[in-house]
Order: sequence, then structure tokens, then C-alpha cells
Amino acid sequence: MDSAFDLYEADLHCHTTASDGLLSPAELVQLAAQVGLKGIGITDHDTIQGWQEAEEAGANYHIQILKGIELNTNWDGKEVHILGYELDSSSDYLTDKLRDLRNAREERILKILGRFKDLGIKIAFDEVQQFAQGESIGRPHIAQALIERGYVRDVKEGFDRYIGIGAPAYIPSYKLTPEEGIHLIREAQGVAVLAHPGVLRLEEGIPDWVKAGLQGIEVRHSQHSPDDEKKYLQIAQEYRLLTTGGSDFHGEACKPGVNLGGWGVSLDVLRQILDLARRN
Ligand code: AMP
Ligand code: ZN
Ligand code: FE
Ligand code: FE
Repeated sequence: MDSAFDLYEADLHCHTTASDGLLSPAELVQLAAQVGLKGIGITDHDTIQGWQEAEEAGANYHIQILKGIELNTNWDGKEVHILGYELDSSSDYLTDKLRDLRNAREERILKILGRFKDLGIKIAFDEVQQFAQGESIGRPHIAQALIERGYVRDVKEGFDRYIGIGAPAYIPSYKLTPEEGIHLIREAQGVAVLAHPGVLRLEEGIPDWVKAGLQGIEVRHSQHSPDDEKKYLQIAQEYRLLTTGGSDFHGEACKPGVNLGGWGVSLDVLRQILDLARRN
């Protein structure tokens, strides 16, 4: 399979059905093996529910699993996503906080559906919930309900017309600041990494977040341009941070063209993160 030569060894940013991805953890691992990856990071939004199944499948398919999460935080109205890797799953503090965040997700979905009512769209919570197979519900599940009911053709149209930033039913509702997100990850012995900073141009916040305990920057990402990669690599070097990367794979129907393993890093980076986590 010569396409394997174009791929990275490890894709450290992947979503599963535990949150808003379309593949189960086991299906994701199987696909990772098919496309020639050696490692993947499971980074579902506000949940670690997918870890166990991924690890079991990883042992079968010889795929190394990096246990992660992605936290959405709010920086003066701007969304800042923080990845956490190799957190201590036995931490009660982490369990409680993640539960709060998932409850806030449900409240946010209800608010968005309230806005829909004003727009003449009647969708019940249950209709959204049926697309959430795991414990963390999110806007892509609303997009799926909009498609099902014929309001939009695809997920992108759902975000553009209704639920994306700037659209009429957009509700920002992130309970954490970036600093709080970083503290939560570090408190649970995890490695905190700034996700895809190029998407919303977040360089001004980085010095404060490094002070708060940030340890890495996701330099390679499906939504980063070559210039973004250059800029964030330079910043990472300046602050002596890890440079990570991943596709942000959710499944073809959710993010068309974002292929598993299309963006990533060498297995060495995965090992660096494991080393760092052991020292946290
Ligand atoms: P939530 O966690 O509920 O805020 O939803 C965030 C998720 O929605 C992201 O991880 C993406 O999967 C998806 N998303 C965000 N913006 C867009 C967009 N403009 N088009 C398609 N999907 C998007
Ligand atoms: Zn997502
Ligand atoms: Fe993100
Ligand atoms: Fe993501």
C-alpha cells in the first residue's frame, strides 16, 4: 500500500462516538490500522468514555493509544480548545468536572433548540439525543437532526446557516477559561496542549497559557495552512513546548476530506507526551 508512505505514524486528534465522531472507538482503531498508522490519540469532547474500548482494540490491532480529551474553553468570547493527554482516569476531581461540562452541553443544546423555535424550526431534544451514541452531546448532533428533518443537506450547511459562530442560533456556553482548562488537565496529571490555534488566531493568549501550565501546541492540523504551521512551530520553539499534530477526524460525513492519518506526527512525539505525562 504505497499511500502509507504519505501518512504520518500517529494522528493525535480523533473523535469517536463517545462524543461527536461517527466511528466507535474500535472502528476508529481498525481504520487506523488499515491506513497504516502506528498510534492515535482519542480526544473526545469532555469525556474519556472511549478510552477502554480503544485500548482493547489497540492491543488487537497493534495501534498505540494515547488517552486524551478536548476541552472547549472561552477566552473573552473566543473559543479556545485545549487537548489533554494521559490524564489519570481515577481522579474524582476530573470525573466531577467532566460531568459538569457534559451537563452544560445539554443545557446549551436546549438553549439552541429554544432559538430554533423562534426561527420556526421545531426539533425536540430527543431528536438530537438519538444521534449522540455516547455520553457527550454536541452541535454536530444538532446538525444531524437538521439533516434528518430536511432543513439542511449537510453538517457544514447546518453550521453555516444555524449553529456555527455568527449564525442565528449560535450560543456560546463554555464554562471554563483556558487557564481553568489547563489547570484541570494538569491537576489530573495530564499533558495540556493548545489545539489548532490557527483556526481562531490565538497567539496573543499563549504567553499567559504557558504560565498556567500549557506544555504543547498542536502545530499540524487539518485546518492549518502552511503559514500557520510555520508560525506556531516558531512559537512552540520559543516557549520550549511540545509540537503535536492530528487530523481532528470525526468521520467523512461530519468533516468531509478530513481523513484519519492525513495530519499527524511521528511516533516519537507520542512517546514524548507519554514521558511528560509520567513526570506530571
Ligand atoms: P460543540 O462541541 O458542541 O461546540 O461542537 C464542536 C464541534 O462542531 C467541532 O468539534 C466540530 O466537529 C464541529 N464544528 C464546529 N464548527 C463547524 C463548522 N463550521 N462546520 C462543521 N462542523 C463544525
Ligand atoms: Zn467535535
Ligand atoms: Fe477543536
Ligand atoms: Fe476536535
